[in-house]
Order: sequence, then structure tokens, then C-alpha cells
Amino acid sequence: MDIPYLDLTRIRSAVETFVSRAGADWSAIKRAGKAVPLGDLLDGHPLCLVEVKNLTPQAVALRLQQRGIDAALPAGNPRQPLAGFVYGDGLRALIFLNRDDPFARRRFSLAHEIGHFMMHGGGALARATAQPAKKQMEYNPDRDDPREIEAHAFAAELLMPWEMVAHEAAALRAGTLGPQRAILALAARLQVSRQAAARRLAEWRGVA
Ligand SMILES: [Zn+2]
Repeated sequence: MDIPYLDLTRIRSAVETFVSRAGADWSAIKRAGKAVPLGDLLDGHPLCLVEVKNLTPQAVALRLQQRGIDAALPAGNPRQPLAGFVYGDGLRALIFLNRDDPFARRRFSLAHEIGHFMMHGGGALARATAQPAKKQMEYNPDRDDPREIEAHAFAAELLMPWEMVAHEAAALRAGTLGPQRAILALAARLQVSRQAAARRLAEWRGVA
């Protein structure tokens, strides 16, 4: 939490907006304590999911062309493997996911791309880049890019909100669950990867 530009209030509000626009009750989802129903939430949004084997910028450009969207390839290696990619015009978006990734990883990638759609795909980005909105093509492999960190934080808040992490975190703190068991329990319950669960529990220990 020592990243000065990471505004958690803004990120949580984007998560709440995403859930409420899908017609769902965020408090009820958090109370249920089960994996967040990402597929159901997606249905309430103008988002189309495209799962592609061997996802690369080149593969994305090809799929966009097939849909009649003429988008330039982003800078960088066109064959670099990607976990996810979002192409949007600020109103609707196509989210590409790498079909080869495990289920939990794809869930996180999807939540990450939704984060870009909710926080970076609207009018603000169009103004910042001074480009026609429909030509926006999000791709940035730079881990230090604030937008990447924000999208990751959005995914963590959407898939592992604190209220849903508290059970394992409290058991871990009380010593009734060891670190490995706590990570596995959280990963299984919320359908996230062990790495994501471990990172979230570590964050919780950092702020609690
Ligand atoms: Zn990203």
C-alpha cells in the first residue's frame, strides 16, 4: 500500500459501480463468502469475451480485423504471449483471454481487463490520449505503469474483497491455520490462483 498513486477509494468505487450496473448486490455477494460470480456480472455489461489459444498482440489484431475493426498493432513484440487484452471504445469492449491459462488465472485476467474497461476505457483516456475513442487499443506490458497496477488492484478488490479474505486472515493471525493451508483455503473458496491468494493475505497482514 506504499504506492502513492494507488487510490483504493477510487478503485473500490469502480468495483461497486461494475457490480451495481450488472444489477447485483455487492454487499450480498460479499456476505455470501463464495467465489464472485464473474460470468453473471459480465452479462450485465456491454462486454464480449473472446478466448483465444496462444494469445498475442498479432492474434488480437487478426480477431479485430475479422470483426471489421481496423486497429493498428500496439508497439512492442507482436508475438509476445498475453494473458489478456481489452479493446474498447469507452462504451463497449471486447475482452480477449488466453485460453491456455488455467481457470483461476483466466478469472484474474478477466477481472484485470474489466478494471481497464471501468477505469481507463472511458472518456478520461480518450482525452488523455487525444485520439478518437474508437481507435483506443489498450496494451501495456509495463508492470510499473500506474494503469497496470490499478487494474491489478481492481481485480484483487473484485475477486478478493477484504470482507471475504477476513476468515482465512483471522485464522492465520490466530495461528489456527498455517500459511500454506490458509492460502490453499482462500484460493479454493474464491477461485483464485494460489499466488493471488498469497499476495492478498500478505497485503492483509501489511494493513491489518
Ligand atoms: Zn493491463
